Amino acid sequence: MKILKTPKEAIEFRKSLKGSVGFVPTMGALHQGHLELIKKAREENDNVIVSIFVNPTQFLPGEDLDKYPRKLEADFEICKRAGVDAVFTPNAENMYSEDEILIKAPKVKGYILEGFFRAGHFDGVLQVVNKLFNITKPTRAYFGKKDAQQLYLINQMVKNFFFDIEIIPVDTIREKDGLALSSRNVYLSPKERKRALSISKALKKAAKLSSKTNDINEIKQEMLKILDVDELQYIAFVDREFNYIDKIIPGNTIILIAAFVGSTRLIDNIWI
Ligand code: AMP
Repeated sequence: MKILKTPKEAIEFRKSLKGSVGFVPTMGALHQGHLELIKKAREENDNVIVSIFVNPTQFLPGEDLDKYPRKLEADFEICKRAGVDAVFTPNAENMYSEDEILIKAPKVKGYILEGFFRAGHFDGVLQVVNKLFNITKPTRAYFGKKDAQQLYLINQMVKNFFFDIEIIPVDTIREKDGLALSSRNVYLSPKERKRALSISKALKKAAKLSSKTNDINEIKQEMLKILDVDELQYIAFVDREFNYIDKIIPGNTIILIAAFVGSTRLIDNIWI
């Protein structure tokens, strides 16, 4: 497995490849969720590139950029065992320059929900993914449904900028008890972890109820009874294009939650 440290090395490596390329962008501290993306990429492509880059431009001032878990050696081992061909681990200095051309997330869908509570976050995500796509020139790129709004915006960017890349969505991987896997779960104390479970429980309940009723208010009330979090930022009901909806549309609804448990911000969602 190759370790590529600079965009130049990665571009050279990409040029040497024959056949299709599956690309999995990550911020590292890899878990089973990431592994699922990698596995799918491995099954569907001749070559697999994983990037590990804690991208500073998608963190807001005061967020966890400095304490974000970094486990590079363990990540390399996981990638090697999963049959990855190359891991791209650039640093901020060689990914960014002074006074760059910037990409702006769409005014509405890039600034609601996650984009409201983390204003500018998606500008940074799209900026870096744009660079990563140009460096790795993938045939297919793999993104988790866990970050549903990100997945939607990446699809939009591919359309708007005419990238010739197939975006493959991957279902959310959960612990046995339902907690969505996240690199940030390590921040949770055992007590907080228990309370964090109320998020996936509320979503599961919502999914169950939505087979009986399309009344969003009724479903929301039931979710609120289950949720045991410190600050609920949103419960939202959108369609697959991230338009707010006022009734459940079977086959075209995503229910999303963002909440703090202690000082850890968690997001999760369920596709109906
Ligand atoms: P991250 O390292 O958190 O930036 O995530 C890298 C990719 O893994 C993104 O496309 C995420 O949506 C995806 N991902 C993160 N957690 C999960 C999960 N529990 N299940 C599936 N995909 C995930």
